[in-house]
Amino acid sequence: MSSPTRQLKIVRYGDPVLRKPAQKVGRITAEVRQLVEQMVETMRAAGGVGLAANQIGVSQRLAVIEVEGEVRVLVDPEIVRTVGSELCDEGCLSLPRLYGLVERPIRAVVKARDLSGRRITLEGEGLLARALCHELDHLNGRLFIDNADESTLHWLLGHDDDGQPITQPTTLDDALRVFTAARKAHG
Ligand code: ZN
Repeated sequence: MSSPTRQLKIVRYGDPVLRKPAQKVGRITAEVRQLVEQMVETMRAAGGVGLAANQIGVSQRLAVIEVEGEVRVLVDPEIVRTVGSELCDEGCLSLPRLYGLVERPIRAVVKARDLSGRRITLEGEGLLARALCHELDHLNGRLFIDNADESTLHWLLGHDDDGQPITQPTTLDDALRVFTAARKAHG
């Protein structure tokens, strides 16, 4: 059976798969390669910087990241070292439009395997380090709201004519109520 689109549905806050630590991928099969291809398509279509497999309902330690035009595929990744910390605004495709300041390392070193099974070491700085830590958190059942400074949480409502973001502050409780209500409404 062929599907009309290779994009997958991104699961949203409230789906228990997001809170479950993902399982090791182990052997890299044709299915894993196809899944990765679909994850890249899905991440791009959603305008994201990264996507973890559990965000498309697959509880496997698999993530894709695209920073500065370069796609990185992480199979069974592990953080081996982090350096420093910085506060930056962060969001997540599974919690659409919600943003807040999250403290993350300035540099992160991650060990993983690529799609041919070779061991790789990735060193990221700034946004890449942040994306690596964000996706690794996903694979351990953690979300950015677990680390976010709650007083900085806000909705991104859109942009004005000058391209400036239009935001609205929110509390974590209120934000989670919105996601829970949307989940009930859409099933
Ligand atoms: Zn995320």
